[in-house]
Amino acid sequence: MKRKIIFAALGISLAAALFSSMIAAAACRSEAAAQVGRALSGYMNIFEEQLAGAESEGSLQALAEDFAAETGVRVTLLSADGIAVADSGGEAGEDFSGREEVAAAVETGEGRAEGPEGGDTVRLCRKTGQNALVLLAADAPSFGAAWGGVFPAFAGAMALILLCGLAVAWMTASFALKPVEKLTREVAIGAGREIHTDAPPLQPLVKMLNEMNADLESKVAKMKEDRSIEKLILNSMEHGIVIFRSASDVILINRTAERLLDYEKNEPIRCFSEDREIAAILEEGEAASVSRRIEGRDYSFRFTFKKQGSVLLITDVTETVAAARSKNDFIANVTHEMNTPLTSIRGFAELIAADGVPPERIGHAARTIIRQSDRLSALIRRIINFSAIDSDALPDYEVDLSALLGEVLPSFEPRIAEKKIAFTQEVEEGVKVMSRRERLIEIVNNLVSNGIRYNKEGGTLTVRLTGGAHPVLCVRDTGVGIAEEDKTRIFDRFYTVDKSHGGEGGGFGLGLAIVKKLCLRAGWKLSVESTLGEGTEFKIEFAPEK
Ligand code: ADP
Repeated sequence: MKRKIIFAALGISLAAALFSSMIAAAACRSEAAAQVGRALSGYMNIFEEQLAGAESEGSLQALAEDFAAETGVRVTLLSADGIAVADSGGEAGEDFSGREEVAAAVETGEGRAEGPEGGDTVRLCRKTGQNALVLLAADAPSFGAAWGGVFPAFAGAMALILLCGLAVAWMTASFALKPVEKLTREVAIGAGREIHTDAPPLQPLVKMLNEMNADLESKVAKMKEDRSIEKLILNSMEHGIVIFRSASDVILINRTAERLLDYEKNEPIRCFSEDREIAAILEEGEAASVSRRIEGRDYSFRFTFKKQGSVLLITDVTETVAAARSKNDFIANVTHEMNTPLTSIRGFAELIAADGVPPERIGHAARTIIRQSDRLSALIRRIINFSAIDSDALPDYEVDLSALLGEVLPSFEPRIAEKKIAFTQEVEEGVKVMSRRERLIEIVNNLVSNGIRYNKEGGTLTVRLTGGAHPVLCVRDTGVGIAEEDKTRIFDRFYTVDKSHGGEGGGFGLGLAIVKKLCLRAGWKLSVESTLGEGTEFKIEFAPEK
């Protein structure tokens, strides 16, 4: 930039110096020509006097030559029609009538011309008394000569002007560019900072830069925030997501997918080549799903293929699979539970119909048929009960749970005695809970009857109720206990740990599912602690009264 300004200033100074020297040369030349013209006028007067004294025509040539030798002026004497009679610089007889100065003299008495015609001369022609014409011509300096004359002086001046011009240009450029350079430095090092300048002409630019900076900063901040939100969403998703072009060209992968696929950065996704079914899907390029079990949970791998990249969505389907499993359990359980009494009922009925039962055994057969029918009814009732919980919208009221236990627990005494179980009640008086009697009876019945059913002969069973702000009901037994892997599943519908446990008093796998559902709806916390072979404790922490 600075160099450009200096070169421009240099060019302009050079052109100005040349131009002014030419104007000066033209002026000098014009002044010289005027001086020559004035001298010619003087010579013309003198020559006219000498011509008047000339004796003969023959002496005219000598007169002209003498005068020319004396003055250095070319003298030509012309007849009235412009033909040379005598000429100090040429031959007599030459025709000058076409010359501008001659024509003017013929017309007006005197003519004057200068210029290149016949060289850089000044010419003066005048009519004399004898009706003849005198033409005097003298050399005048040409433009080149005049310029050559003035140029040395101008060359010195030019050099001086050039030097001054250079210095001025240098100083101007430095002065003008200093704030720009300072601003450039500030912009370069001060990324994100506010820029300042002392130069008023640069203020609008600085203002604009600062505004652009601020705008840019807020846009960058917004972009960063958007990206971190996107990242947060992706990484907090429980679904795994992978966008990829190939196993080794992964565009995006979230944390869940990284963990499930055991993915390491810059390494290809292993299962894409090692898992044959997945490799076949990728080869095919058609949307498809496969199920895989990872770390004890079930996942669905859904592949879709788009132009911009392929997408793998990994969804945890453990609950869905468990629900399907639970449904299968239900079918197996119900089939089994219904089949056993039905076979028994049909067997006895057929025997009676075929008169195959001795009269003294008829009563026993009829009682068996009634017992098995009761079991079938109980199963059906439980299924109805379970599904009725969802549609139960009856209002809660305060129930005295201590009193309710006092009414319900005695009904278990025959079964407790039958199994020789040591039964303990630690029931605080007047513990009240917001619920409905039938729901609490259902809960107590299920927990206590399980405590008896899954107890050992001669075991213990304790029912404890504590009050206060957070009433707690515990039913603890020293029975068979529950294995760790079954602890979460015992609350599933129709799940029974051991089908052989199913006896006449239950075994449908619905009791704990009903308890769990009732607790969930009421906002109570249901928990189980158990050691296989040692015993189990179910605990319900009732919600505090509002
Ligand atoms: P069921 O009608 O089979 O008793 P539940 O839903 O009440 O159905 O119980 C589900 C399963 O949980 C039972 O099959 C049993 O294996 C286990 N279970 C429930 N209570 C106890 C307990 N107190 N001790 C040991 N196992 C239990």
